[in-house]
Amino acid sequence: MDRSILAQGASFDLEDLDHRVQTLSRSTRYDRCCHRRNDDSLIYSASGRNGCHIRLFRTLFTNECYHQCGYCPNAGRVSNGCSYTPEELSDLVVRLRREGRIDGLFLSSGAGRDEDSTMEEMVESVRRLRERHGFSGYIHLKILPGTSRHLIEQAVELADRVSINIEAPSGDVMQELSPTKDYERDILDRQMYIRDILARRSRGSQTTQLVVGAAGETDLEIFQRVIKEYGEIGVSRVYYSAFVPLKGTIFEQRMPQVRWRESRLYQLDWLYRVYGLSPDEIENVFDDDGFLINQDPKVTLARESLDGPLDVNEADLQSLIRVPGIGPESARRIISYRRRKRIECPSDLIRLGIRRKAIPYLKINGWVQKRLF
Ligand code: SF4
Repeated sequence: MDRSILAQGASFDLEDLDHRVQTLSRSTRYDRCCHRRNDDSLIYSASGRNGCHIRLFRTLFTNECYHQCGYCPNAGRVSNGCSYTPEELSDLVVRLRREGRIDGLFLSSGAGRDEDSTMEEMVESVRRLRERHGFSGYIHLKILPGTSRHLIEQAVELADRVSINIEAPSGDVMQELSPTKDYERDILDRQMYIRDILARRSRGSQTTQLVVGAAGETDLEIFQRVIKEYGEIGVSRVYYSAFVPLKGTIFEQRMPQVRWRESRLYQLDWLYRVYGLSPDEIENVFDDDGFLINQDPKVTLARESLDGPLDVNEADLQSLIRVPGIGPESARRIISYRRRKRIECPSDLIRLGIRRKAIPYLKINGWVQKRLF
């Protein structure tokens, strides 16, 4: 990390802390909940309260972990790793905030020797930040699989957002990815605790993340789990992380997952979560083996379901949002415009913010583009 962050007013061994900050922060780079790096390489941007972009200091609390996740470089390290103390971490975060470098904290961790003692220290770090330092910035706190309920309650109380990574779409896939975790008990039950606690609060949310392509799971299996995550668990977002085999991990020799699969899953997620398409309709995009092809799923659906170009002056909202290049907002703009005048030509649509790729799917005042979809 930029040493100027650590060079002022330190009450601990700077060189040692600097090494731990570098190590623990870099270890979070495969988490998808934060996505864009800022110039300062250990500070990431993410969506905060009200969806605005904020800068987060993102770090593990410890890189020791007794679990055996095949994709993880920290798997099975139960000694000689790096950790903070709650005092060090909270003091560091306060300093970064005072210097205007960050808006909040994203705190994840390995499980250490056992999840409860590690989670207790993570909660203590956040408690110090909130109660001792009056820190009002955004905090995203990972819940470790298998954590006890009383610690989950404290974590939800203190953080803006919590998450527990499901990693796999089913218990069978979890056995392959991480045989030391019990999918139902350690993960799904904990997600439901969180759901129940959040239901009694006026703020806070939970998210989750899956590893894609490390254990042969299909996109259909992933989608079926994701529907339950949004519906039964009430997560606000699911993040997808394409598997990358890292040196020194159990899965080092496995093939990396193509990156487009992650992007197609995000597009699928969008169709379900934002467009409100039904699972039955969306399931038409999978091939016979349950996988997505490398094409926007919305295009696949449109080619399958539209009989021909859609009359843009007649179509209802539900039909319009199924056209590639037209989203819920732009479909509403079309309908509002139609109340005043007919859509006469493609440029009327372009002026309404409709993307050109929508044109081949539309009949506009009797005109149809020759190059059909
Ligand atoms: S739980 Fe799994 S992914 Fe998380 S730190 Fe431990 S070994 Fe790595």
